[in-house]
Amino acid sequence: MKYTEVMVRYGELSTKGKNRKDFIGRLAGNVTKVLRDFPQVRIYPRHDRMHIVLNGAPFEEIDKRLKKVFGIQTYSPTIKVPKTLADIEKISLEMMQETFKDGMTFKVNTKRSDHQFKYDTNQLNSMVGDYLFDHMDNLKAEMKHPDMVLRIEVRQDAIYISNQLLHGVGGMPVGTGGKAVMMLSGGIDSPVASYLALKRGVDIEMVHFFSPPYTTEKALAKAKELTGILANYAGRINFIAVPFAEIQETIKEKIPEGYLMTVQRRFMLQLADRIRAKRGSMAIFNGESVGQVASQTLESMFAINDVTTTPVIRPVATMDKTEIIDRARKIGTFELSIKPFEDCCTIFAPPRPKTKPKVEKARKYEERLDAEGLIQRAMDGIKVTPIYPNQKFLEDKAQEDADLL
Ligand code: ATP
Ligand code: MG
Repeated sequence: MKYTEVMVRYGELSTKGKNRKDFIGRLAGNVTKVLRDFPQVRIYPRHDRMHIVLNGAPFEEIDKRLKKVFGIQTYSPTIKVPKTLADIEKISLEMMQETFKDGMTFKVNTKRSDHQFKYDTNQLNSMVGDYLFDHMDNLKAEMKHPDMVLRIEVRQDAIYISNQLLHGVGGMPVGTGGKAVMMLSGGIDSPVASYLALKRGVDIEMVHFFSPPYTTEKALAKAKELTGILANYAGRINFIAVPFAEIQETIKEKIPEGYLMTVQRRFMLQLADRIRAKRGSMAIFNGESVGQVASQTLESMFAINDVTTTPVIRPVATMDKTEIIDRARKIGTFELSIKPFEDCCTIFAPPRPKTKPKVEKARKYEERLDAEGLIQRAMDGIKVTPIYPNQKFLEDKAQEDADLL
């Protein structure tokens, strides 16, 4: 079917006035970003819906992108036709023949914003319905729960006909929820937490701790590539790499084994908070899930969270591992997350971390370290890279390695 336009219906848009404007403006910007490589496409954000005029761009490709844009409730590919009955009938028949399968029920649903048009909605519904019955076999009309609805919209400039109603991902356009930093590891949970933050409209920047030479280039590339998958939902995400080896070495040397993990996590959170402040963000997100491992008991979270009063938001806090895995599969991060490139936490993980660390003890042990100097040097080493949808980092690396041989 050669669709000419996509009609987009907005998601959670209960708000009015300025917020509504912001919602629609951000959504239009985000759609523009994901369709950037189709320069012929034109986007017209209106008060109640958005029209995407394809100008020859293939709907199948556009469809794949729109499925990942937060703030879209439903959308319909349409064909624009001149305002004559003959044109309406011709395209309606083509659309029905395309979609209809034997035994399906259908109805014609007409809407009219041009009230000067010579037929009203009831007349159009029955005329088009009759025409379809005359030209197709085994049609069955059904008013309450039809399998398919042929939608006809009579507007001022033309008539728009559609045979599909597709579901978007819902949520809020990225950017309407403010800015935050996201602590992204190479694991399963933090990519899912990232997706959920984006879904609420939060514009995230990734903070990733890496520890060369204890962790490989591959571990870093993996975290970047995960960001590339998530960038499908955001258009672009900044990736902030933070060198963490010196901190880990120092902690390992000076802190009792039972507190290695707690103190490492306290440093990570402090660094994430410094970066947050520097980048003008309002919150820190992470992928912790209550009770999943020793560092994620409530006692542990309490002892770690002690280093900041900034909101630390944990989107997967109450999800079961199986639920998180299901979601990771759906958003396309699971296969990459389970690739075994160890990140900085697994390398320095103590065999028996305390499940009930004490805040006072953690603070006291930290006095043995030059915390400010360590943090400052890590901050001096951060590197920010913008990452775009589906950008690859692991393959390139493999290719480079192969070239070197
Ligand atoms: P994940 O699946 O996200 O790795 P996890 O269940 O393996 O989580 P941990 O490895 O203990 O749990 O990490 C808990 C959270 O701490 C992560 O979800 C992430 O937000 C943050 N984190 C852990 N390691 C790093 C890292 N190297 N860089 C940035 N954040 C990290
Ligand atoms: Mg992990």
